Amino acid sequence: MTTPDYNLPAAAREIAALVGPGRRICLTTHVNADGDGLGSEVAMVHLLRALGAAVYVTNPTATPPRFAFLFADIPDADKSGAAVKELRRADAIIVLDITDLPRLGGLADTVRDSGVPVACIDHHVSPGTLPDGPRLVDASAAATGELIYLLAREAGWPVTAAAARALYVALVTDTGGFRFSNTRPRTLRIAGDLLEAGVDPEQVYLDVYAGAPVGRPRLLAEVLQTLVVEEDIGLAWVTVPPGALERHGVDPDDLDGVVEHARSVRRVRLALLFREMSGHRVKTSLRSVGNVNVAELARQFGGGGHAKAAGVAMPGTLADVQATVLAAARAYLRAG
Ligand code: 5GP
Ligand code: MN
Repeated sequence: MTTPDYNLPAAAREIAALVGPGRRICLTTHVNADGDGLGSEVAMVHLLRALGAAVYVTNPTATPPRFAFLFADIPDADKSGAAVKELRRADAIIVLDITDLPRLGGLADTVRDSGVPVACIDHHVSPGTLPDGPRLVDASAAATGELIYLLAREAGWPVTAAAARALYVALVTDTGGFRFSNTRPRTLRIAGDLLEAGVDPEQVYLDVYAGAPVGRPRLLAEVLQTLVVEEDIGLAWVTVPPGALERHGVDPDDLDGVVEHARSVRRVRLALLFREMSGHRVKTSLRSVGNVNVAELARQFGGGGHAKAAGVAMPGTLADVQATVLAAARAYLRAG
């Protein structure tokens, strides 16, 4: 194992000091929470409730149906529908899987003005704009869930089967099923520990990937029809036709993994997925192969993420944003 660039024992001590018996703790993550954000939160609910803290999930957007199973045995834990009210009552806030305040969407102001310590556990490269509090940030971690496992071990918090399952969901989703380059020896060692703690990997697969609404494969079929490939520079992109999510009765979470099909084309080095969001904004998801750094590209437009998986939401029409991002992508690829 390489030496981490953060001080785990210090971070664990500082976070543990916030979460004792009777403390009200709110956990939150980025808009359109994913498996890492939600898995990390649910694991923290189990870990911190066992210490006697009152712990709630307060996210800026609703939990996608795909991840509802994580809350089946903690039905009172997801207070995302009343997030502002809960955040105002919190003794401490723990932000997971992001370091940037704006990614909290409609909750950014509430968290900024909360006046309580705001801890952060994250694996993004980011300037970080959250209010003060303990930090456990390591960009070499495959998932935020990986850091929560290290935190639990360091702090001596028992990892129950329920916490282990949530952390396994975090690892599986953020590594693309242990396929992406963020899969390190440490990631697989932790996955092994989680299986030993009682996780059923096939059941996690069925819960996360095999409970799709019929609209999900139909949407996939429609989006893949839009594939454009510029073979000479290794660029590929797909576009969600306006209104397609509504027509198929699905939500943005159902697009998870679609951009991988664009990345799967031979010699593609940069793959993009465009979709219209509410509020006249367009979201671009960026994925790369090899040494193309998509976080750098996304940052040109105010977005961010990881070297091989990044995203950005920009104001404008679909056609305008597409033209802007494609021009930057071509320039980036041509520059080598
Ligand atoms: P996705 O394309 O799957 O939504 O996101 C891929 C990665 O990029 C994730 O690590 C996510 O945190 C990051 N990301 C996605 N959208 C945004 C965004 O609007 N701003 C920033 N800073 N990062 C984003
Ligand atoms: Mn993550």
